[in-house]
Amino acid sequence: EHESTVSITVVGASGDLAKKKIFPALFALYYEGCLPQHFTIYGYARSKMTDGELRHMVSKTLTCRIDKRANCSEKMEEFLKRCFYHTGQYDSQEHFVALDKKLKEHEGGRLSNRLFYLSIPPNIFVDAVKCASSSASSLSGWTRVIVEKPFGRDSKTSAALTNSLKHYLEEDQIFRIDHYLGKELVENLSVLRFSNLIFEPLWSRQYIQNVQFIFSEDFGTEGRGGYFDHYGIIRDIMQNHLLQILALFAMETPVSLDAEDIRNEKVKVLRSMRPIQLEDVVIGQYKGTAKGGVTYPGYTDDTTVPKDSLTPTFAAAALFIDNSRWDGVPFLMKAGKALHTRSAEIRVQFRHVPGNLYNRNSGGTNLDQTTNELVIRVQPDEGIYLKINNKVPGLGMRLDQSHLNLLYSTRYSKEIPDAYERLLLDAIEGERRLFIRSDELDAAWALFTPLLKEVEEKKMIPELYPYGSRGPVGAHYLAAKHNVQWGDL
Ligand code: NAP
Repeated sequence: EHESTVSITVVGASGDLAKKKIFPALFALYYEGCLPQHFTIYGYARSKMTDGELRHMVSKTLTCRIDKRANCSEKMEEFLKRCFYHTGQYDSQEHFVALDKKLKEHEGGRLSNRLFYLSIPPNIFVDAVKCASSSASSLSGWTRVIVEKPFGRDSKTSAALTNSLKHYLEEDQIFRIDHYLGKELVENLSVLRFSNLIFEPLWSRQYIQNVQFIFSEDFGTEGRGGYFDHYGIIRDIMQNHLLQILALFAMETPVSLDAEDIRNEKVKVLRSMRPIQLEDVVIGQYKGTAKGGVTYPGYTDDTTVPKDSLTPTFAAAALFIDNSRWDGVPFLMKAGKALHTRSAEIRVQFRHVPGNLYNRNSGGTNLDQTTNELVIRVQPDEGIYLKINNKVPGLGMRLDQSHLNLLYSTRYSKEIPDAYERLLLDAIEGERRLFIRSDELDAAWALFTPLLKEVEEKKMIPELYPYGSRGPVGAHYLAAKHNVQWGDL
């Protein structure tokens, strides 16, 4: 181990994601002692920067969040000393050869392992992969490449991207990131289900009435709509993040916790899904509104968005899994921007108690039953709670809806690592469980591509909803059609 080294190259180091997520995650890993003893970090982009300028840029986004009271400036200094910068074009073999030379100097003859994090726009993915693999691959150890979404915009373009990548890389060198899979509560989903006797037996159509996957953001595109407008919320959130969580939620018990076993089960679920019907989908777009003397812009007020854009900023859908476990159970998804709140959660609504004693002979007292609901709050304020019916203490007989509540901030004192920390560490360690295999990606696109085509060919008009609202009313009708009420209201 002492004789090997890891070189991490952040391609697109001048960008937003690199600054906000990747460098801070690398620092957190360093601080926690998770990086190997010999490592070097390189930023690579076209922008002209010196090592010093990169360090300055990176230093502004590092925090001592792990142990707030500790003064970690010393650690930061040590970390920054191991960060370097190389200016280059993404399609220049020559520039990658020069990078390779520098990496070799740092590696000093040790066994070299190399990780490239492609934090660049999708149109230059393939160029960068080509150059990195042919001119800057490790000759003695592994070479891995992390790629960020979007992985195409439909089945065809995704397959084309996969094929191009496979010219230069083996499937096991490609780490397709879906950062939702790196979130603590998403990882915990399997623990909750498979290691608690009280949950696993309930995990089927027999006891579960419906499952909801909800993502909301309380801000719009805010002048950065160029990328988004080309994709829309269905591609940006549903086809990847929410569908990934759904697959983890609904999969059969994997043979083991090995990456291939888990991903085999996820693919099976995705391939068992019924084609999505247009009448089971609602799309929306936020419009400008004034509230309390403040005006909030509509989506098409964003100057980076075409005035006549029909791109959905909100979508709700009912999906079904045609297998024996989930036959007939609606899996509802809802995702939107510029809503009233910011959150991501999974809601499991159980069936009613058959022949419930407390629904009979109520004699005029308030015995309204609540639906048992298990809520997994992925963000913010991570937590898990179960809604139960409970007797209001006292001489009468009144039922109350109560929560069995596990709030992470009170139960666990340690701060939850950012998703990018876990994923980067896994990529370094070669753990592929939380990365998307190409057949998973194909299955995910196969499910959503026909729907996206139909929405776009028919030029479906999104239902407008005011910025900061709860989204279009159509989402409620959709849920009601399937005998469901959204749990987040
Ligand atoms: P970004 O800031 O737009 O781009 C990263 C860097 O790529 C830029 O600093 C720029 O560096 C270079 N670049 C930008 N446009 C280019 C072009 N047309 N041709 C060549 N180089 C260009 O992107 P980001 O927000 O950091 O995101 C990076 C990747 O992650 C993207 O693929 C994005 O789709 C994905 N992603 C981002 C987020 C996020 O939260 N930001 C979330 C999910 C996925 P130089 O000019 O210095 O070369």
